[in-house]
Amino acid sequence: MADFKIWMNGRLVLQAEAVLPVNSAAVFYATNVFEGLRAYWNERDGELYGFRLADHFARLRESMKMMRFSVPYSDDELFEAVRAVLAGNEVQEDVHMHLVAYVGGAGLDATSPTGLYINPRRRQRVTEGKGVSACVSSWARTSDNAIPIRLKCGANYQNGRLAKLQAKVDGYDEPIFLNGRGKVAEGTGATFFMVRKGRLCTPTTSNDILESITRTTLIEDVAPNVVGMDVVEREIDRTELYTADEAFLCGSGYEITPVTSVDRFPVGRGEVGPVTRAIANGYMNLVRGVDSRHPEWRTPTYKPVRL
Ligand code: PMP
Repeated sequence: MADFKIWMNGRLVLQAEAVLPVNSAAVFYATNVFEGLRAYWNERDGELYGFRLADHFARLRESMKMMRFSVPYSDDELFEAVRAVLAGNEVQEDVHMHLVAYVGGAGLDATSPTGLYINPRRRQRVTEGKGVSACVSSWARTSDNAIPIRLKCGANYQNGRLAKLQAKVDGYDEPIFLNGRGKVAEGTGATFFMVRKGRLCTPTTSNDILESITRTTLIEDVAPNVVGMDVVEREIDRTELYTADEAFLCGSGYEITPVTSVDRFPVGRGEVGPVTRAIANGYMNLVRGVDSRHPEWRTPTYKPVRL
């Protein structure tokens, strides 16, 4: 299957034509900020729904602000760019997209010119109902006053790369980061949740995590309204990972990925638990529009509407 074309600064181009100068801050220092988001094909409606686009655009703006990028596009223009890349590629299937704002100029302190590209790709679900084996990484999550994880810049992901490769070398699927204070932070590109003593818990946003849109979706809707459990936001200790009844990672890319062991300790019975399964079903039904509540979170990308 051919790769999708990329939308780059207003034009649809082939992957091979979407290139940046080697001396740009974007290439040399990874001076970019980005969003990873998904659009889901709904067969019944004949529509491709972008999930929580406005929230992704808002977070991109926060990242751009912190990085002192100029903001060349309005939200309407960002939405039109998403539509252009999906319609231009005639996408009628689930798709994952990276929306990347970058600095094309050279130098550590370069702030312009700012470019934008959107790279749609087919992306497998991380697991189809199966759990992953996780480890506590010996790499600490970078802290808010060093390279803040709230800021979604490409360079941050080197922290994730170190941990991910170490985990793989050591025979695990996924690392879980502790923060500088030794409390549970998150996965490399996903938020951590656990069920322990009957409560569904996740670290607060002051634990060196990205302010995840999936996390918000579970807190605001899926957990209380579909599964009947309010989410407790609190600090989580390392030993709670070993004594949890259920655990999962979540994110736009990871969706709901069950964790069935941590450091070889089985989580609960070492199987995907009932709460995780219910959360996963509830989340997938919502993003695809099988569950028709919250239409404001699903932006049709085929029909000519605005956010
Ligand atoms: N943490 C990090 C570091 C991430 O990159 C992601 C993926 N964007 C997440 C958490 C999950 O965030 P979201 O639910 O907004 O995709």
